[in-house]
Amino acid sequence: MDFEAVIGLEVHSELSTDTKIFCGCSTEFGGQPNTHVCPTCLGLPGALPRLNKKVVEYGIKAGLALNCSINKVCRMDRKNYFYPDCPKNYQITQDEIPVCHDGYIEIELDNGDKKKIGIERIHIEEDAGKLLHTDAGSLVDYNRAGVPLIEIVSKPDLRSPEEATKYLEKLKSILSSIEVSDCKMEQGSLRCDGNISVMPKGSLEFGVRSEIKNMNSFKALEKAFEYEYKRHVEAVKNGEELEQDTRRWDEAKGVTFAMRSKEKANDYRYFPEGDLVTLNISDEWIEEVRKSIPELPHEKAERFVKEFSIPKYDASVLTLTMDMAKFFEKVAVESKDAKAASNWLMGDISRLMNKNNMEVKDLKFNPSQLAELIKVINKGTISNNIGKKVLNSMFESGKDPKVIIEEKGLIQNNDEGEILEVVKKIMEENPKVVQDYKDGNKRVLGFFVGLVMKATKGKANPQIVNKIVNQEASKL
Ligand SMILES: [Zn+2]
Repeated sequence: MDFEAVIGLEVHSELSTDTKIFCGCSTEFGGQPNTHVCPTCLGLPGALPRLNKKVVEYGIKAGLALNCSINKVCRMDRKNYFYPDCPKNYQITQDEIPVCHDGYIEIELDNGDKKKIGIERIHIEEDAGKLLHTDAGSLVDYNRAGVPLIEIVSKPDLRSPEEATKYLEKLKSILSSIEVSDCKMEQGSLRCDGNISVMPKGSLEFGVRSEIKNMNSFKALEKAFEYEYKRHVEAVKNGEELEQDTRRWDEAKGVTFAMRSKEKANDYRYFPEGDLVTLNISDEWIEEVRKSIPELPHEKAERFVKEFSIPKYDASVLTLTMDMAKFFEKVAVESKDAKAASNWLMGDISRLMNKNNMEVKDLKFNPSQLAELIKVINKGTISNNIGKKVLNSMFESGKDPKVIIEEKGLIQNNDEGEILEVVKKIMEENPKVVQDYKDGNKRVLGFFVGLVMKATKGKANPQIVNKIVNQEASKL
């Protein structure tokens, strides 16, 4: 029997407002423990919350970008639970009426088909503090308490770990492009929980669910779901009864383990937050927010394919982050060679950035300088190979390509006469190889080309070298 997974994701995204959701404290990441706090976010008796308008605006913005409907009348609720990082012993969130509902994200499957993944709801809420476990005991830092979050709950429309990864990638690129969150998974501003069950392929009846916490990187997400998928399929095949549970992904061990049996919604005793009024969202406000939404990544990708004639694959990679998309567009326009711009950015530049753990905004050179490099290569001033060396220097120093080429004396030699002299000299110096060639070994021509490039320190135009080596060999 063939099985398939049924996966739903719950993604928490920290909003990039300057201040917290119910007070004026800073939302800045880090800082000395308990320095971004006040009576309200510490939950001291008598302190009252005041809702930050920007949080609602960002919630609406995310909802519109994710094709949701907006609940024009909604409210905040209390979710009661006791935990040291939750200073009021309840979290202010939205239960019955979230700010957005019923949207979707379109992902592209490996076979090129598009699939809509439903979004059940998006609600706004406050984040909890952080526990630090030390040798001296557990400490709590409330800097994060009250930082605004949106929680985006998908419908159980995902059918494999790969689809889940695609969904999260798309969601991340949309949220960061509309600038409601910086989506830094390593700083916890994008966090992912999910649930999975398995069922016979094509069935309509879902199996028993496991909820998985703590999948805080793309790698973790895919590995945790793969692990759970296998565990569930094994159990079903062996006739074992699975229990609905909440599990934690252990990155180091590569396994999930059960934390607790699932609490039910009524364990939280949700009730309306009496310290805050009902929210009334006007049509005018929704329209105003709609106008502030920039071109979304998939719209940009489609335009890049049309305007610059680059492959669809390139366009989808280049639009994963807005910084990369903007950088590419400037280089493509200035260099008038979009494919070269795409090759440099997706190839050498991405490799260097990954190696140095950098992002586009950390690059020392700007789009005009990369466009200049492409132009000097296309003009034949330097070869593509020398271009890679120039790029490495640009990456290190941020200097103009022309300055680097001059300083290092890298200008390409296109002088056929000079190159002919070098070819002749190398053939004279290698009589054995010449004999090899005469005996029928045509591959030694590549050896000659290599020697000529070495003798000219890579500066000879490789096309001309090839041409002359072939021409001289034919005379032997
Ligand atoms: Zn505060």
